[in-house]
Amino acid sequence: MIRALRRSPVLAFLGAFSAAAAASAGDSLSGFATASTARQRAAEAAFAAIPSPERARDWHRHFTAEPHPAGSERNHELALTIAEEWKKQGLEDVVIHRYDVLNTAPLEVSLTMVAPVRYEASLREEPIDADPDTRNPRVSPGYLGLSASADVEAAVVYAHSGNPEDYEVLRKNGIDVRGKIVLVRYSNPYSYRGWKALTAERQGAAGILIYSDPAEDGFKRGPVFPDGPWGPESHIQRGAITYDFIVPGDPLTPGWPSLPGARRVKPEEALSLPKIAGLPLSWKDAKPLLENMDGPLAPKEWQGGLPFDYRLGGERVRVRLKVRMDNRVAPNYVVEGRVRGSELPDDWVILGNHRDAWEFGGVDPSSGTASLMEVTRAFGQLLESGQRPRRTLVFCSWDGEEVGLTGSTEWGENFADDLATKAVAYLNVDSSASGPDFQPDAVGSLAPLVLDLARELQDPATRRPLAEALRATVAKARAEAGDAAPPADDDLVDVRIGSGSDHTVFLNHLGVPTIGLTFDGPYGVYHSMYDGFAWMNRVGDPGYRYHVLLSRIWGTLALRLANADLLPFDFAAYARHLRRFVADLDGATEKSRLDLARLRAGIDAFEAAGRKLNDAQARALASGVPAPDLARRVNRGVLEVERNWLDPDGLPGRPWFKHTLYAARYTYAHLELPGLTEAAEEKDWDRAARQTAILERAVARNAGLLDALARDLSANPPPSGR
Ligand SMILES: [Zn+2]
Repeated sequence: MIRALRRSPVLAFLGAFSAAAAASAGDSLSGFATASTARQRAAEAAFAAIPSPERARDWHRHFTAEPHPAGSERNHELALTIAEEWKKQGLEDVVIHRYDVLNTAPLEVSLTMVAPVRYEASLREEPIDADPDTRNPRVSPGYLGLSASADVEAAVVYAHSGNPEDYEVLRKNGIDVRGKIVLVRYSNPYSYRGWKALTAERQGAAGILIYSDPAEDGFKRGPVFPDGPWGPESHIQRGAITYDFIVPGDPLTPGWPSLPGARRVKPEEALSLPKIAGLPLSWKDAKPLLENMDGPLAPKEWQGGLPFDYRLGGERVRVRLKVRMDNRVAPNYVVEGRVRGSELPDDWVILGNHRDAWEFGGVDPSSGTASLMEVTRAFGQLLESGQRPRRTLVFCSWDGEEVGLTGSTEWGENFADDLATKAVAYLNVDSSASGPDFQPDAVGSLAPLVLDLARELQDPATRRPLAEALRATVAKARAEAGDAAPPADDDLVDVRIGSGSDHTVFLNHLGVPTIGLTFDGPYGVYHSMYDGFAWMNRVGDPGYRYHVLLSRIWGTLALRLANADLLPFDFAAYARHLRRFVADLDGATEKSRLDLARLRAGIDAFEAAGRKLNDAQARALASGVPAPDLARRVNRGVLEVERNWLDPDGLPGRPWFKHTLYAARYTYAHLELPGLTEAAEEKDWDRAARQTAILERAVARNAGLLDALARDLSANPPPSGR
């Protein structure tokens, strides 16, 4: 799979970076002294020249050749391949970590409508000539990861998106779902399928069927694959229903790593393990159920894209749902490789992507894996040419992300002590490209770093700076939500971070600052067998330009964090975002019951201290490279900020989640100031006051820390003449 590099580095560099960036190449980069900036620019140019679309495509073909779900032999083979390739590329300390975790695979699944007419659901996707992989006999039927096993016959109720408010509507219509099977759709509004399952379980349903309505990801949106990006009639969105919003990772080792001999809780005591059985359906298989339903007409918003009236059901349609799962402990493999830092080997910049896919994983996650392999290849080449970053780069290929963020969570729990002192940042890429829309996210302190780079890079199709494209994307999304205000710089990088990928253990459990990167686009084949190589080449990223651009962004951000003289965190920006989080909460709750004045004043002080540190850093860097001891003190200090947001007791009710600014709702949606917000939403004002006090203390601690660091920097001017 390895071919020689043919493109000229200089030409490729000019292709990747905009004229504006070339013109401003003399300006200092954030975090770098002038002398270091020139060296850094050269390293970035050398790096950016290496990732190639042809190579990315080759990697992508390899990773998408066979289904490779977590726990499968194929996914183990791919782990071995990655380890081998990383060694060949020149990475150091390549190891494969094994975690024995609760795995999931279907043994037998069937769904039969027994009344009013008989219909055997195929639970299969139909092959398409344009995509030969769709004839692969190793593709699984539709199933839901970590579903319980069951064999049950019951009447079917249509419960819209399966959120709690939907069951209220059913109740008002006199429909009781206890003992029945609920049929819900994936979106409208979107919620994580595990939340739908837990909600159905709490409502006393006997089973859950989750289907893809064509109004959400099918023909109602536009041309379907192979003619377009949307899901064909029989596409099935597989996926786990694990309750990882309570605690992610292996359900049997909540909070500790699944190493050999680890203590395991009994499955019936595992909080994140569903007790309900379910299946995902294509609209092709859902249609016969929906069109035979009786009962009241469903509300207008519940109507979907199929050409008949949707009814609530509850009597006439009966199905037999049979699910037999193999949910046993099996190995997950996390591949880790490094480029050891030349000066600060105990500072880690971590880059990760998951490897496991429900089937071929064309977008999710093999696009990201292809981009990762080009990043590691480029760093291997830099190393060979004698360019070693100052800090250590740690590369991880995760397993079991799709089941419960499992591999990254176990690894994070395994190395929690190291990560607490060594982790500088975690840069996550799940899918790298399903289209051309750059969609970065970052904690508030790292958003400016991402935006700086987006100003320098160009969209390969339009030749516009990526930051402009990003501004247009954000403006469009806002306009669709009825907000005509043009987005400000602070609005471009998303700082509201939910769950659903491998950043979770780093940010929410360990207090490691995170960045997430992807190129997005219309993508209706998510978690179906059509998400493969052909989809990518016909629709998603023909030419693999966005795969390569993602590699460049990922690697360049890693290089900036790895080589900076003073780490480029912007805490004044963090404070501005924090102030917005508080304003949003205040706007959404009964104001009189929350006293947030002291918290607001604390945020003002945190912002002032952040600005002071920014100024002190800029002054120090303008006059030379700071003395090593001073730089080390300041850099170690700023890493404490994110850790200081952690509350050791965690969120009330889910103590694994320790971050006081960031968590996710049970739906996976972002949730800021989680402890306080949840208390306010539940109108538990005593708890809200306690959570406010926790935030006040963390903000005050961080303001004091930044003040001290700024003073330290200002009191110690760098040696003159450097
Ligand atoms: Zn993924």
